[in-house]
Amino acid sequence: MSWSLSRMSRYVFQSKYLQQLKENDELCADVFEKSCYLMFAKDRPLLGASSNVASESAVLWTPFSETIPYCQDLKNTSVLLTIDESTEDTPLFACRIDDPSKADEIGDKFNANFTDMRMAIFTLPEEQCNIISRAFTLLNWNQKTNFCSNCASPLRRNVSGTLRACTKPCDPRKANIYPPTFPVAITRVTDQKDEKVLLVRQPQYPRGMYTCISGFMEAGETLEDSVRREIAEEAGIVIENVKYFQSQSWPLPQNSLMLGCTAVAMPGSEKLDIDKHELEMARWFSKAEVKAALERIKENPGLLIRNSTENLIVPPSGAVAHQLLQNWISNYSPSHL
Ligand SMILES: [Zn+2]
Repeated sequence: MSWSLSRMSRYVFQSKYLQQLKENDELCADVFEKSCYLMFAKDRPLLGASSNVASESAVLWTPFSETIPYCQDLKNTSVLLTIDESTEDTPLFACRIDDPSKADEIGDKFNANFTDMRMAIFTLPEEQCNIISRAFTLLNWNQKTNFCSNCASPLRRNVSGTLRACTKPCDPRKANIYPPTFPVAITRVTDQKDEKVLLVRQPQYPRGMYTCISGFMEAGETLEDSVRREIAEEAGIVIENVKYFQSQSWPLPQNSLMLGCTAVAMPGSEKLDIDKHELEMARWFSKAEVKAALERIKENPGLLIRNSTENLIVPPSGAVAHQLLQNWISNYSPSHL
């Protein structure tokens, strides 16, 4: 991917402008009326039809004048998300509607729907997933973060909703509080011959679904340490050759960053010893099995809700686990399948 000079300069301009809006309360207070808004009914973002692909959904942005009837106190409750790339300088905010019982009325008016977060993440393009993740996280963080963890005084939010500050003279190093991110490593573990992949299942997963092994990083760990520990704990095997693949913002239940990795089971360490408190099952799967599962979920994402067979399914394409598995299959010569 390479960007044109004008796109690069626009990106730099927008990044700097966004930073100013985050840091300068007066500047931010001045832009509300020229901004656009993504409304949420409780935790459900408002999605309409995509203007590019009719069958796809997209985040629905509403101007100030059409948002304020449903969110009276926008200036004290909305959160700054980003700058609209297409208009150069329209700031984009998220807000919660004051009365969730008006969700259907608003949906009808805008020909849109307040949509379950998990469903939205799995169906929106990546860039829009990140927008709704940021919105969900900032709205919830502002609502739940009310007191200073250093001195227990009330906190005050900045205008953009991106930081909260202690209202008492407090330890200056701890007075500003930002929303935390919780890193989770998710790893595609393959065998030495690169013929099998380790997938796991938890009891609450949809019928037939398996995915890559994952776990929260702990204090003081590197990414490599975390991957090695989690796989030893849960599957009883030792891995080597940890490599970073790609990441994904994951807002549920709270602002995680999924760090997709790959690793290889050490020679002689492929016999599983499963932690039954964490996992219902863990198994090695062949490339043919994974290829079929990827195709199955692409053809019918509804299998996540209702899978009438025991056929293997894997997370849909919006999930980093899917990308890890797709990459494994794509690098493989189809003639061997
Ligand atoms: Zn304090």
